[in-house]
Amino acid sequence: MFGRGAPKKSDNTKYYEILGVSKSASPDDLKKAYKKAAIKNHPDKGGDPEKFKELAQAYEVLSDPEKREIYDQYGEDALKEGMSGGGGHDPFDIFSSFFGGGGFPGGGSRVRRQRRGEDVVHPLKVSLEDLYLGTSKKLSLSRNVLCSKCNGKGSKSGASMQCSGCQGSGMKVSMRHLGANMIQQMQHPCNDCKGTGETISDKDRCPQCKGEKVVQHKKVLEVHVEKGMQNGQKITFPGEADEAPDTVTGDIVFVLQQKENPKFKRNGEDLFVEHSLSLTEALCGFQFALTHLDGRQLLIKSNPGEVVKPDSYKAINDEGMPMYQRPFMKGKLYIHFTVEFPESLTLDQVKALETILPARPVSQLTDMEIDECEETTLHDVNMDEESRRKKQSPQESYDEDDDMPGGAQRVQCAQQ
Ligand SMILES: [Zn+2]
Ligand SMILES: [Zn+2]
Repeated sequence: MFGRGAPKKSDNTKYYEILGVSKSASPDDLKKAYKKAAIKNHPDKGGDPEKFKELAQAYEVLSDPEKREIYDQYGEDALKEGMSGGGGHDPFDIFSSFFGGGGFPGGGSRVRRQRRGEDVVHPLKVSLEDLYLGTSKKLSLSRNVLCSKCNGKGSKSGASMQCSGCQGSGMKVSMRHLGANMIQQMQHPCNDCKGTGETISDKDRCPQCKGEKVVQHKKVLEVHVEKGMQNGQKITFPGEADEAPDTVTGDIVFVLQQKENPKFKRNGEDLFVEHSLSLTEALCGFQFALTHLDGRQLLIKSNPGEVVKPDSYKAINDEGMPMYQRPFMKGKLYIHFTVEFPESLTLDQVKALETILPARPVSQLTDMEIDECEETTLHDVNMDEESRRKKQSPQESYDEDDDMPGGAQRVQCAQQ
């Protein structure tokens, strides 16, 4: 969209100058002038590509009555502003459509400048075992291939007609007047030819592809997942995406998506596993077998006399993930230990433990001092629940804060 206070008269002669015609040139004059200049300046004939582009741009605007009117009134900038995506057509497409989609007159090598087809991206779910061991997966995919019967022409004769709806450009420009000096210009693919710029008569239509130029084809691709590949890594099959006429076929790209493993977590080359020890194991030693991703049993044991603290880590070298393209090198396997403490102990157990464990710090409270303290009761709390409750009712939290100083003091007293 653009607005303009007053029509600007400058910069609306350049296109006429490029084509070497007068401002009153008829559509036929323009056609002749463009044809002559475009052939002379075509890059395939050693012409200057910039000049060729300018010619195409000038002709594209002046040959379209609506665009020519905007250009004559407001100049080049108005067209640029209205063009979606900073637009304009490919100069080779304009050249080709001018000559009816055929080759270069006089046998030039370029039939039509090829655009690149879109890549097709598929997620590929893999297990951590797949990434540890490497694997290959066969996938059956359906894709468009050029019709073999008509070689992607869509017609029996191989001929096609220029679409009358868009003069073969494949695009249409529509304009909306949004007020005195406001014009909104929009470019969109032509409906008549689905943006291809050409049409095929019903009689001439290829019976195999019904004029669609492509047919569906099933193909099995074997995807090799290499050892050590990462979540999100891409595996590319160049030129295996949908085929289309005058198009360089895009790639099929598989993006690895690692499924969660119930036991192992991965971080780069390292693996992490959780292991819970009983208090007895944590204090007196442990040993257990861990089944690795390849099915091997690893014997994991503590050193004699070693105590494992809650929330501590230990690592085993070279038992992590293989490194991508260096699978003989491996990361570390980290074990995160949690310790299950007993819920309670009998008095006898307490006595027995006290004879073994290091002596407790001597109480420095005299009986007198204890008598001066206030009695308290310790309750079990679930801190997560407490904080959630406090978030829900701030008023209650305020009340409890009020009580806190007293409570804190009491605890302090007991510890002295
Ligand atoms: Zn069309
Ligand atoms: Zn066909």
